[in-house]
Amino acid sequence: MNALSSTRELMIRTLRRMESLELNHGATGNLSLRSANGFLITPSGMPSEDITPNDLVWMDFNGKHSSHREPSSEWIMHRDILTAYPEHQAVLHAHAPHCTALACLEKELPPFHYMIAVTGGDSVRCAPYHTFGTPELAQAAVTALTDRRACLLAHHGLITATETLDSALDVAVEVEFLCRIYLLALAVGEPPRLSPQHMTEALKKFDTYGKRNAS
Ligand code: 13P
Ligand code: ZN
Repeated sequence: MNALSSTRELMIRTLRRMESLELNHGATGNLSLRSANGFLITPSGMPSEDITPNDLVWMDFNGKHSSHREPSSEWIMHRDILTAYPEHQAVLHAHAPHCTALACLEKELPPFHYMIAVTGGDSVRCAPYHTFGTPELAQAAVTALTDRRACLLAHHGLITATETLDSALDVAVEVEFLCRIYLLALAVGEPPRLSPQHMTEALKKFDTYGKRNAS
């Protein structure tokens, strides 16, 4: 198996995991991975269980491709995030139920739990609503991802942008869990916030958390 086909297999595996973890359903959501001078992206309008490695579309950053499939309708959003944040290699978009519920309330995820720090800051912003597939939605997502590895899209869903496919999935799972807990807490009342100092300390701990020989 050559490097490109194993990369495509890895993307398919990540797509299947998104589905089995109930982050996604049907044809919703999409996934991209930086590759050579462009990126690989899922095809538009296909249920994830039907997508094979050959259906993934390689595009350049001008949006040119020669695939037999149409790229995801959100290719501009993926392209603009990968362009704005060279440190990120993978972009995941899902209509994860608890993220989407919070996004439908146009609410961000505040610093109510220390695990928010896995997203790189003390909140997960909620980008304002724009029609799917538009450059306006792409720009809103780019702005909401400033210094963050995740954001919500109002009345739509979730984005994660990270270093690898695995970490994009891990952050998505964590943000979905946090949104679920936040919604549970909200049913009783608005939970108190952690202080900026507590969040700074948590963020610092995540620099070395789980890494061997870290002090
Ligand atoms: P695609 O099937 O075109 O990737 O669109 C799904 C989606 O979630 C649009 O926001
Ligand atoms: Zn979507």
